[in-house]
Amino acid sequence: MSADALSRLKQVCAHSEDPAEIAPHVEEWRGAWHGHSPLLLKPATTEEVSRILAICHETGTAIVPQGGNTGLVGGQIPLHGEVLLTTARLNCIHDVDAAGATLRAQAGAILADVRSAAADAGLMFPLSLASEGSCTIGGNLSTNAGGVNVLRYGMARDLVLGLEVVLADGRVLDLMHSVRKDNTGYDLKQLFIGAEGTLGIITAAELKLFPKPRDCVTAFVALADPAAAVTLLARLQDATGGLLTAFELIPRVGVELVLKHIPDTADPLSRPSPWYALIEGPLTEEMLSGLDGVVASSEAQRRALWRLRESLSEAQKREGLSLKHDIAVPVADLPAFVAEAVTAVQALAPGARPVSFGHLGDGNLHFNFQVRDLSQRDAVARLVHDIVQRYRGSFSAEHGIGALKREELVRYKSPVEIELMRALKRTLDPKNILNPGKIVAPLP
Ligand code: FAD
Ligand code: ZN
Repeated sequence: MSADALSRLKQVCAHSEDPAEIAPHVEEWRGAWHGHSPLLLKPATTEEVSRILAICHETGTAIVPQGGNTGLVGGQIPLHGEVLLTTARLNCIHDVDAAGATLRAQAGAILADVRSAAADAGLMFPLSLASEGSCTIGGNLSTNAGGVNVLRYGMARDLVLGLEVVLADGRVLDLMHSVRKDNTGYDLKQLFIGAEGTLGIITAAELKLFPKPRDCVTAFVALADPAAAVTLLARLQDATGGLLTAFELIPRVGVELVLKHIPDTADPLSRPSPWYALIEGPLTEEMLSGLDGVVASSEAQRRALWRLRESLSEAQKREGLSLKHDIAVPVADLPAFVAEAVTAVQALAPGARPVSFGHLGDGNLHFNFQVRDLSQRDAVARLVHDIVQRYRGSFSAEHGIGALKREELVRYKSPVEIELMRALKRTLDPKNILNPGKIVAPLP
């Protein structure tokens, strides 16, 4: 990267070359990815982002956009010494349009702040992740984030009406519509959602809000196995008219890890059970009769139940090393998948302890194993993903591709899909300046 390019970039907006200030932005929070960057750009307006990309395009300077730096696949880290653009100062949340049930926010707005702004207006923005205190709307859209309410409201891409994107050459693509119906050709905004910053930089979005769900009950119930969970899910969806907002599966071993490692947690039930489901929706006593379980009777109890679920990753980390797979298969196939894949993994890596949990309602499990060493990591991932492929599932259901799963992408997607992705990348970013080395973007 040329000194001239850097000096021109520095004239555009607030920036830093201080290694101490840059350091937290080039490290991933778990320490899984380390990058480096000569320059951190801190634009506060779309116009500044536009000028930055125009210079990068002209000078062939690679750049990585970063939101809250909570991504799990290395997408937000400048692994090759790229310039880094933080959206931290693009954090304006505009007034809620209560009648239209929409909210306009800049890309760097923190998810939790967007959720509170919606709640203050008596509405709800349903995207909810354990990282919501630091992740941003731009990051959520760029990773097409999932979370615990996908069952009812869909993933991030389902929650967007309009988008503003700065293209690789600096042109601003203004798609900031708030209408609910718009069949005017290709839906270009969807191209940038889930693109992990490889096709453009998202600067603002018009988001869909929803009425707060009524009569929301949180229940934690004991189940014999994943098949019982799938049956219960169908029964409760039928009984509530499809109004469940969450249906999370938790194994006994997961609860035990949380009780062991996370302070102030308690087993909600008096007798252990091999599996549990954490369920939210307009549940009645009648719907839950015959099940061993508890219903939260206060907000504090509700939080305690969710804390068990949300502490699983942290408890796994404190327990030791783990192999993680973010997979999805059709919901009805989950029980068969779990049985088959656990047997196969344990044959390959004896002693691997399964800790599978997650979004059963979406067919998405964090199909993890506690292990003593990581020597079998790649072989186990290959085995699990090959089985997922046979079920026509996804080897990356909610965390994306980033730098981590590039090989899998090429292995499991058809050549036609890969060629179309590459063609899109070439068309929208012919000089490969946007997040090179991520998804299908060539290395710089
Ligand atoms: P970053 O990590 O900063 O960036 C993520 C990607 O988006 C990178 O490729 C980056 O280049 C790109 N990007 C960021 N901003 C922009 C922009 N404005 N324009 C273009 N590209 C951009 N994910 C889930 O889906 N579901 C979960 O339940 C979930 N739970 C999590 C729990 C924890 C504790 C943690 C740490 C992470 C979790 N994640 C989850 C992953 C992560 O929080 C999400 O991927 C989140 O959407 C990333 O947002 P971010 O602002 O931190 O983005
Ligand atoms: Zn998840």
